[in-house]
Amino acid sequence: MFDSHSGASTEKKAVVIGGSIAGLLAAQVLTKHFDHVTIVERDRFPKQPEQRQGVPQSQHLHVLLTRGKQILEQLFPGIEAELAESGAPSMDFITDCAWLGISGWAPRFPSDLRGYTCSRNLLEWTIRRRLVANNRVAFMEAGQVTSLLSNADNTSIAGVRVRLDKEVETDIFADLVVDASGRNSRSPQWLQAIGYQPPQETIINSFLGYASRWYELADEKPIDWNAAYVTTQAPGTRGAVISKIEGNRWILTLIGVARDYPPTDEAEFLHFTQSLRSPILYETIKDAKPLSPIYAYKRTENCLRHYEKLSKLPEGLAVIGDAVCAFNPVYGQGMTTAALGALTLDECLTEQLSQHPDGNLIGLSRRFQKQLHKVITVPWMITTGEDLRWSTTEGAKPSLMNKIMQRYMEQVLVLQTTSPHIHHVFTEVMHMVKPPTALFQPSILMQVVKQVFNRHQPQQEFSNGQGFPSPASVAE
Ligand SMILES: Cc1cc2nc3c(=O)[nH]c(=O)nc-3n(C[C@H](O)[C@H](O)[C@H](O)COP(=O)(O)OP(=O)(O)OC[C@H]3O[C@@H](n4cnc5c(N)ncnc54)[C@H](O)[C@@H]3O)c2cc1C
Repeated sequence: MFDSHSGASTEKKAVVIGGSIAGLLAAQVLTKHFDHVTIVERDRFPKQPEQRQGVPQSQHLHVLLTRGKQILEQLFPGIEAELAESGAPSMDFITDCAWLGISGWAPRFPSDLRGYTCSRNLLEWTIRRRLVANNRVAFMEAGQVTSLLSNADNTSIAGVRVRLDKEVETDIFADLVVDASGRNSRSPQWLQAIGYQPPQETIINSFLGYASRWYELADEKPIDWNAAYVTTQAPGTRGAVISKIEGNRWILTLIGVARDYPPTDEAEFLHFTQSLRSPILYETIKDAKPLSPIYAYKRTENCLRHYEKLSKLPEGLAVIGDAVCAFNPVYGQGMTTAALGALTLDECLTEQLSQHPDGNLIGLSRRFQKQLHKVITVPWMITTGEDLRWSTTEGAKPSLMNKIMQRYMEQVLVLQTTSPHIHHVFTEVMHMVKPPTALFQPSILMQVVKQVFNRHQPQQEFSNGQGFPSPASVAE
């Protein structure tokens, strides 16, 4: 035990558990409020943008939504330019992305929804490089946090115990511990060990799996897009997305819902690709040179830990990122929600320290988890509402509101094919730059109502992807 009131140094210290996206972004905001921030990471970090064991998902396509990109640039000014210098292709998510929705290809036209498509390895490495250059930040690599340290009466977290290589353990004391250790976070067990209730969990599982492979395309491929997405439409179970990344490489990620897991066998992988609603992805990769094995991933259930509901939480602890809420990745919200979580932590700390200039953090933990929950609510609603379209999804049944939203969205998705305005607003919502209520603005609502009354129902047979669109200058 450690009593943080017993004559500790006046310098303020924070510890972050986990050096992945949520941990790195949290560390950056912590440097505004603490003199020393230590990031404890189980892995050793690669010197170059390469795969590491603790982030197996980086073998799969990772899209940073426009809102996430905006926050990244806000936290690390100039980082977009660094990604571009490292070869990350720039991307207009409307004109450079071929999108096969419920009833056909969405229109392509220049938009303000811009970002970069790069490997998850490059993104994490670029952020980490910024923090390495920050003299308030220290990295402890190959260090696994094994428990939380608390004060004598367990009312406050005082640091973490870390197991280093060769079974050596060390304690790091801090005023604030931020758990960003991902989906498998041990905070529930660590809290129990010091006499607290663990948070309840809500798990909603559509049993979705990924299989991904990296490629170099044949030079002569006449392609005028940087990404193509054949969306998964319930009750259908298959979809896929391909995107260009740095180094002139492409990642193809196959998606299967309801346990229709995409295969890792080479011939079966190609066969699955051929079975999609549109031949575009198969045509793109059939002559391409594979650069990797086929990677599979199945841990995709939506998992929300309700820290916001705990009536007792020790002071000096904040849980963030996938450790609080891990989403089905197919909607691409994880990193952006982690970024929003970092901004929320910043806001809560700013408010706390303006009220307590002495650095007293009493009340921060519970207030932060409640604020974070508000941020998570919208992406959680979108993701789980979509996943509940499949009758095979476990963990909840669609509510009346879910069903109304699903029917409404089906109409929107039909209109998306012919209306650039609706496709633009839909993409803004998907990229978290606008709330879902934007899809209920009068101009869209009217078109939906008109469509319903004209009995232009969504096609029961989903589009087979004929009529692939070229980019155009469209103004509605
Ligand atoms: C297949 C897949 C595809 C995805 N695609 C997208 C996408 O397109 N867009 C998007 O925004 N998001 C995507 N995500 C989600 C995204 O990867 C996460 O939301 C994001 O990485 C934030 O996670 P995190 O930092 O909270 O946790 P993680 O990325 O899981 O990192 C946790 C870190 O903590 C370390 N760690 C764990 N335990 C300890 C310990 N005890 N001590 C020390 N260190 C520890 C781990 O080694 C790891 O580095 C995808 C996820 C998956 C699974």
